[in-house]
Amino acid sequence: ELVEERTNEMEGTSCIYKNPNQPIEARVKDLLSRMTLREKIGQMTQIDRSVARPSALRDLSIGSILSAGGGGPFEKALSSDWADMIDRFQKSALQSRLGIPLLYGTDAVHGNNNVYGATVFPHNVGLGAARDAELVRRIGVATALEVRACGAQFTFAPCVAVCRDPRWGRCYESYSEDTEIVRKMTPIVTGLQGQPAQGHPRDYPFVAGRNNVVACAKHFVGDGGTQKGINEGNTVASYGELERIHMAPYLDCISQGVCTVMASYSSWNGRNLHSDHFLITQVLKEKLGFKGFVISDSQALDRLSYPYGSNYRSCVLSAINAGIDMVMVPFRYEVFIADLTYLVESGEIPIARIDDAVERILRVKFVAGLFEYPLTDRSLLDTVGCKLHRELAREAVRKSLVLLKNGKDPNKPLLPLKRNAERILVAGTHADNLGYQCGGWTATWMGASGRITIGTTILEAIKAAVGENTELVYEQRPSAGTFASQDFSFAIVVVGEGPYAETMGDDSELVIPFHGTELISSVADRVPTLVILISGRPLVLEPCLLEKIDALVAAWLPGSEGEGISDVIFGDYEFQGRLPVTWFKKVEQLPMHTAGNYDPLFPFGFGLTSNNKNLSD
Ligand code: BGC
Repeated sequence: ELVEERTNEMEGTSCIYKNPNQPIEARVKDLLSRMTLREKIGQMTQIDRSVARPSALRDLSIGSILSAGGGGPFEKALSSDWADMIDRFQKSALQSRLGIPLLYGTDAVHGNNNVYGATVFPHNVGLGAARDAELVRRIGVATALEVRACGAQFTFAPCVAVCRDPRWGRCYESYSEDTEIVRKMTPIVTGLQGQPAQGHPRDYPFVAGRNNVVACAKHFVGDGGTQKGINEGNTVASYGELERIHMAPYLDCISQGVCTVMASYSSWNGRNLHSDHFLITQVLKEKLGFKGFVISDSQALDRLSYPYGSNYRSCVLSAINAGIDMVMVPFRYEVFIADLTYLVESGEIPIARIDDAVERILRVKFVAGLFEYPLTDRSLLDTVGCKLHRELAREAVRKSLVLLKNGKDPNKPLLPLKRNAERILVAGTHADNLGYQCGGWTATWMGASGRITIGTTILEAIKAAVGENTELVYEQRPSAGTFASQDFSFAIVVVGEGPYAETMGDDSELVIPFHGTELISSVADRVPTLVILISGRPLVLEPCLLEKIDALVAAWLPGSEGEGISDVIFGDYEFQGRLPVTWFKKVEQLPMHTAGNYDPLFPFGFGLTSNNKNLSD
């Protein structure tokens, strides 16, 4: 009996690391001291869910799993399906020798966008237009709940890129071209992770509890500054410029206790960030005092050498020695583990570097309470896509809209629209397409067209807003016949970009796709027309087109709640949004901030109220 009691004691809370009453740093040290090299390297490894076999989780002590490209257990998987999947993984991990819980990561970048039925908030560019820090914090709170409900405890958000060129395919993931606005939006971190209590050390990682998630400031650093806006390209800048323009938001995130930082695929003055010891170790960790862990981007190590993956071991060597702590492998993890083991055993990577990485990872896991609460709290399932969160998303849409023109004669504005008009035409590729409205990183990595989740399209929102006696005609592409037989009080044309993500979104032309310009023209030639542009960035608007139309609203990528748009165009709420990015005239002007003469179509900060008052004055 005595022996049994002793063993229980050994396995129970007398292990410092298992005891929640012990200080976190003591728990980290204790656990680290019990770990083998194999277990340490396992913790540094993040693998994709599709290759996460129970035996690997148990025997290799894998530290983290992700859903690469957003992939869930199956198409249109609900939160409960995700939770079942993630809990299954977690139970395998808990059976490992030391029972270290997994951290499950997902790209919840505008709400928990990969899960069917979750609330989809506007993409960051729209939130930058709204410029409302408290709104963004509340979005963080809501997103954290919906992520935890599906079992994940880690989101690869926020993206605090400062997009300096709209040709970049990730422009919409950036809040603004302006560093100060991006900085202002960083309270999303406090929303996601919770508000550190008074006296909490300023730069120590923080997660308040089971309703919060581990956040990730990405992509460190200069991702939005690459030449010609080329994704994963090269940012040419002095250290001073890099610090002032691109690094400043990281300081704000660190002071809110952000737990993780993701390295950028891009290079700074020709050196890939994943091998930049100066920026990752000397600047981020030592100078800025970051104490959480640095995660690589997906398969980024394979890309460190040319041809890709030619000498993977040397890529592992330079990334780990530069200061990458966790590697998003995420598929060929056996190779990564074998190479890293070799490099440590041969002395090319000092064990102290491994211990530093593992300490950082364990610190975040303890901070997040994973040892105490490894499994999903199913009571959170009710929060997914709930009324309150949809209301919040609708509010965000309202605040994000930027009115760029109202009336050919500003004294005769078209907006607010009359909801009791006799006959209205709604047209355009984006009027009734929920997938287009949400953009990339929704349901799948690239996003998709159509009914990809639960939500309200702009057409549905307009239908609900107009009076009983109003006749609403919807034609995606109206023809001459449409106008021959009937008169319209006005038309609402909704056009814009199709969904895309990352490099697939790089675009040097920036014209409205799907023949959007022609579509606008053909309607505006015949009827007073409001154009609603759905896009992740400014697009080319020819002067003759702009003259033709009566009103123009930039709605960015608003997400699942189309009513946010009808709320404002019919006048229940006033326009508040201001351009977070400069609206260029011609692509030849890009990037605008370095061009000598700042000669935009609409300047940064521009936005009208419905009575044509400029909000930036
Ligand atoms: C992107 C990251 C993302 C990661 C995981 C990468 O391709 O650059 O922003 O977090 O994939 O999905």
